Amino acid sequence: MTAAPPRTAAEFAAAWDLPMRTIVSAPGALDALAGVVRDLLPPGELGLLHDGTPKRAAAGDVLAGVRERVAGRSVRTITAAAGPHGVVLDEATVQSAVDGARGVAGLLSVGSGTVSDLGKAVAAELERPLVAVQTAASVNGYADSLSVLVRNGAKRTMPTAWPLALVIDHDVIGQAPDALTRSGVGDAVAAWVAPADWYLANALGLDQGWDEDAITPVVRAAQSLIDLDPAEPAALAALLDVLTIGGLAIGHTGSTAGLSGVEHLISHLLDMAAMAAGRDHDLHGAQVGVATVVSCALWQIALEEMDLGALAPAALVPPGDLERRVRDSWIGLDPTGRVGEECWSSVRRKFGAWAGQGAVVETFLADWPAHQKVLRRLTHPPETPAAALARWGASRTFSALTPTVDPEPARWALRSLPFMRDRFTLADLLLLAGRWDDALIDRVLDRAAAAGGGL
Ligand SMILES: [Zn+2]
Repeated sequence: MTAAPPRTAAEFAAAWDLPMRTIVSAPGALDALAGVVRDLLPPGELGLLHDGTPKRAAAGDVLAGVRERVAGRSVRTITAAAGPHGVVLDEATVQSAVDGARGVAGLLSVGSGTVSDLGKAVAAELERPLVAVQTAASVNGYADSLSVLVRNGAKRTMPTAWPLALVIDHDVIGQAPDALTRSGVGDAVAAWVAPADWYLANALGLDQGWDEDAITPVVRAAQSLIDLDPAEPAALAALLDVLTIGGLAIGHTGSTAGLSGVEHLISHLLDMAAMAAGRDHDLHGAQVGVATVVSCALWQIALEEMDLGALAPAALVPPGDLERRVRDSWIGLDPTGRVGEECWSSVRRKFGAWAGQGAVVETFLADWPAHQKVLRRLTHPPETPAAALARWGASRTFSALTPTVDPEPARWALRSLPFMRDRFTLADLLLLAGRWDDALIDRVLDRAAAAGGGL
């Protein structure tokens, strides 16, 4: 007799033998916190990390509730340093939290995605065990060992540390601002397209570790975002499951790539543009949701309208003016050239790796019908994420984001897709093919608009 396949997040964590084994996700889960902390964090001072934003739950202030559950322990509070646009995890912010936590025996982070990422970064730096209390269903990154940090003004995903336990109290999540929950839906719908970018990079020999078994449960779970009525508590529980299983899949594969393709790049580009200009930007997941509709449109056009199998391997070379195009992409945002330099060093690495893949690329193109079949299975029409976003009241268009993203910055983000980091996506292949141009970007935006998304 074989064991039943894993279904819940905790079952996946066990099946994949992940360091995060304790996942308490239920209404009233905070009541389990005292036991979790006692079992997993060594005696001694506890570092309680949060962002200073009060979080209300039906039973009162969340942070007060957490303190009550660890009463009897000596607690040092570490408040993440906030700038004019909230907490940004740049070098200085992370360092100040690390300095603030030095000497504690264990860490307890209480907050949404940014605080969770900071907690993992501090835990890694100080080599201290971490328990995370998740206060919003806003991203999938709570249940993995990576953090999105800002390095030299560019968003970078860095390996950090696993929380040993994740406590998700649905009563707390249910009281979180709706915008955070809608953002979680946006992050979750990426599962309907991101795996295709990862598969492509693997098939071209530019990434390793393709693992469809890790991704399939996330894609399967995402269907509940369309099927369930968001007004029902079961829908919120299902959203939390999609996000947590997604985070575990990321941790299991050791890379965000399986759930972070073109759509995440677009969101990162919007963040970087806003940061450079000193402007606010919308939540990560809100942007990812809008960008997922666009990415689904791009993939559909690439698979159904462009004869990619007919590409000649020898003709797939980076444009001669690549460096200038990378630097030009950023100079308007950062006249010092620092961001351009950071991005050029990544992009140069990416296309340097491409240059060594001649034989793999030839085989890939020769086997195109088989790859096309897999890629069709991994992608969905733009109507699919658009339906989930609409059902939950999440933004589907750039103009519906807060603050609104105008057509020109949105087009800039698409145009700049190949020019930011070293992870290979469909946009890079199309750049190499000489097809990454404004005409294609307009066609993609039109297709997204037909599905209710786009500009
Ligand atoms: Zn994400």
